[in-house]
Amino acid sequence: MTTPVFRFAPSPNGELHLGHALSALLNRQMADAVGGRMLLRIEDIDTTRCTPEFEAGIYRDLEWLGIDWERPARRQSEHFVDYAKLLDRLIADDLVYPAFMSRSEARAWIVEHGESRDWPRDPDGAPLYPDADKRLSKRERRRRIAEGAPFAWRLDTEKALAGLAGPLSWTEFSDPQLGSTRKVDAQPELWGDVVLARKDVANSYHLAVVADDALQGVTHVVRGEDLFAATGIHRLLQELLGFPPPTYFHHWLVTDREGRKLSKSEQATGLNALRAAGVTPEEIKEMVGR
Ligand code: GLU
Repeated sequence: MTTPVFRFAPSPNGELHLGHALSALLNRQMADAVGGRMLLRIEDIDTTRCTPEFEAGIYRDLEWLGIDWERPARRQSEHFVDYAKLLDRLIADDLVYPAFMSRSEARAWIVEHGESRDWPRDPDGAPLYPDADKRLSKRERRRRIAEGAPFAWRLDTEKALAGLAGPLSWTEFSDPQLGSTRKVDAQPELWGDVVLARKDVANSYHLAVVADDALQGVTHVVRGEDLFAATGIHRLLQELLGFPPPTYFHHWLVTDREGRKLSKSEQATGLNALRAAGVTPEEIKEMVGR
């Protein structure tokens, strides 16, 4: 049997909080329970929001919690070339198209067309991208690109799905003991045509996460429930790019007193602030139930 490979993949765009502590602890404990490896991946493709200080904070907080990982950590910002090569394959297969509207322009387009009320939204609540750009002629696309119009590469989700041999699903563990599994139907269509790259930079979360899980031989993806629906898109990309699907466990989220998901801007649950307030690693583990 091959050694199971787990990964904790935080983005250094803020301080780690209790939710990250839970995720990192689960990854470490589940990997240990099955004799697996645990990788750390720094998901810093958004170079405008990620900083070396937050990255250093990740190493510091994990060490403080006593969570070890295989070194060196993979830093996504060092691998844009890998993601670009994958994007080129999707361009060659005509599965992506240049989308010229920004998110706010797309919203305005929807309002202008008088359909804002019934317009479908993705699982995160954002309106799906209109199909206007998909219908542009090749010539018009070339003209706009030659003029220097900004654009993003979006996946033609409908076309991609139509080319598959059958329905898409993934295997989800039912609990952190990795006892039983269940089959989940993937529904990438819920996201519409997702962005895979901005003009020249292949910097989308979806493409990078799928690429790295495959390149690093990740067999077990343990991450928060907030990414459950996004796994549908990841499964579609894995099929299109010929990557083997990992098995998933989407864990419960740590919430605040009002039951809201924690955010990186909330100081009170930040590991750094808790440490400064004298909270010990053992107390953090108790707080997240591990
Ligand atoms: N980088 C993502 C985050 O910090 C997690 C990605 C993943 O685990 O697949 O939310």
